[in-house]
Amino acid sequence: MGFIAEGNTLAWEDAEQHANYIREHGIIQLLNILKSNKDRHGDDFKWGDEVEYILITNDTFKLKLRANEVLDLLMLEEKRNHGNVDHLWRPEYGRFMIEGTPGSPYEGLGRQLLAIQQSLVKRRESVQRYLKPEESILTVTCYPRMGCKGFTEPQAEVKGPVAESQFLPDMVINPHFRFSTLTANIRKRRGSNVSINIPMFKDTFTKEYVDQQTYISPDQDDKAINQPYNIYMDAMGFGMGCCCLQATFQLPDMEEARNMFDQLAPITPLVLSLSAASSIFKGYLSDIDARWTVISQSVDDRTKEELGKIGLNKNKFVINKSRYDSIDCYISRSPQFRSEYNDLDLVYDKDVYQKMVENGIDGLLSKHFAHLFIRDPLVIYSDKIEIDDEKHTDHFENIQSTNWQTVRFKPPPPGASIGWRVELRSMEVQLTDFQNAAFIVFSAILVKAIADLKLNFYVPISKIDENLKTAHKRNSVVNDKFYFRKNIYNNNSPNGSVENEYELMTINEIFNGKGEFIGLVNVLKNYIKSLNFDAETNQTVNRYLNFISQKASGEIKTISTWTREFVQNHPAYKHDSVVSEEIQADYLKLCLDITNGVVYDEEIQGNFERLDSN
Ligand code: ADP
Ligand code: MG
Ligand code: MG
Ligand code: MG
Repeated sequence: MGFIAEGNTLAWEDAEQHANYIREHGIIQLLNILKSNKDRHGDDFKWGDEVEYILITNDTFKLKLRANEVLDLLMLEEKRNHGNVDHLWRPEYGRFMIEGTPGSPYEGLGRQLLAIQQSLVKRRESVQRYLKPEESILTVTCYPRMGCKGFTEPQAEVKGPVAESQFLPDMVINPHFRFSTLTANIRKRRGSNVSINIPMFKDTFTKEYVDQQTYISPDQDDKAINQPYNIYMDAMGFGMGCCCLQATFQLPDMEEARNMFDQLAPITPLVLSLSAASSIFKGYLSDIDARWTVISQSVDDRTKEELGKIGLNKNKFVINKSRYDSIDCYISRSPQFRSEYNDLDLVYDKDVYQKMVENGIDGLLSKHFAHLFIRDPLVIYSDKIEIDDEKHTDHFENIQSTNWQTVRFKPPPPGASIGWRVELRSMEVQLTDFQNAAFIVFSAILVKAIADLKLNFYVPISKIDENLKTAHKRNSVVNDKFYFRKNIYNNNSPNGSVENEYELMTINEIFNGKGEFIGLVNVLKNYIKSLNFDAETNQTVNRYLNFISQKASGEIKTISTWTREFVQNHPAYKHDSVVSEEIQADYLKLCLDITNGVVYDEEIQGNFERLDSN
């Protein structure tokens, strides 16, 4: 989940005092990075994925709060081998989560594409060695009965001092200081528990009001309110306890990375819709299919002033979005960009902007960073406040790594051979290694095709926001339409109206074609012909692309739709939106069996994964 350091973290009352100092030096550190890297050219195409896993008990299907112990063992191997390992393992928010990445990034596009799935298979095996017989890991985006009575092993008390949640024990939080400090400081900064509200799926016998629905929400004028057909969650863990699938790509230079950041932004809602894998929250069928808004609400630290409920006094800005949200501005200077695309009223720190511009940074990029710097640093390490701004970037990374946006623009770290990178962050994790490999490979080929073919996905940024909302809707792949460019090959026509450049299209049309547009999957299929893959690579890559194509057509169901249908067809389901322990156990057992190749389900696997089980 980003930047993690060792040391003592400050409680909010103390951290607050240092916020300006951290920001001031964060900017100096950023300017130092920009100065030494803005003219850097010719970095290779390197890239890597991040997959997050949950640990469960495979007999009772509880969340097992022991992933940190497993992680310690995995990281010990890394230390012993001086980083020369096949996989890197990192902590994640939940005490039941771990994150795995390749040991070193993949280089180029070729047989590396075959290595991904292998890497994912081996990652599971590698964790397996440290599990007890009754434990298993799963790539399930959201544990269905998170926050329901007795959902953890061991069981733990709710209402702990960190999250003060009526549903989630503090024990679910990773014991590394960073995570509890984040949780407590977000809560303290905003002045109350986070308040996550999502619509419940209304079935025949769904109760209008369910237990534990009364809450105090600063977003709602401080009154305890009781919303009908609402799933209410009150802690960061409901969001940050979800598992994502991310990929990071290194581009040759800053300009190309800036272009890639822009071009991937309109893609983020589309791949969220395709990868949607979360339709149950806190034991209820929800009326949404994706996790993004849940995480967004789960770390929303905005104060009443920042929400515009009361006048600005202590804070500087009224802020339109959570720090976990879609991007607010494009940053590329490519000829494809038109200033009209940046049609949101960007909130940014004018002083930061001024300082960056005075130091020779162009307005567009300065605004992007000045926008990130409207946030307070949340986790400050007491022994790392005064550091050498020439050598370290901790304060910049502090702000950067707690702006969790759909795409992240990653400048080179100091003193490393790593270049300009862009991270695609919206996808939900899939059930099997094949499925995750398919999304990763699709993203990698797309990125390379964007760079080589100069593909143009620009739509006004407000349309990306609308698309992101749409992507959350139930089975949006099949039911909804998204704003997409009519012509992805042209440069803009500076005099034509922006509104004429895009139209509403279904996911099927975007990926599989409409009229003269052959669809993204075919664009990529044509593109890879130019890469002259060997027969095996070609076959495997086409299998992944065909899988994506069938997901887009609805022929293969999203995990969300499949999960929803599993619940609705379960004999114990009472058509009241409640996902009982019994239903969850059967569901997770099925997930486990599919993951392990014991059961095959064409609805989510098509015919694509049969080969893998041979
Ligand atoms: P974060 O959690 O901040 O996104 P991680 O270190 O967990 O960062 O993941 C970074 C991803 O970037 C990994 O998949 C890794 O393989 C990949 N990566 C590492 N170095 C490079 C590089 N030079 N270029 C592109 N990707 C890289
Ligand atoms: Mg992560
Ligand atoms: Mg990571
Ligand atoms: Mg990441």
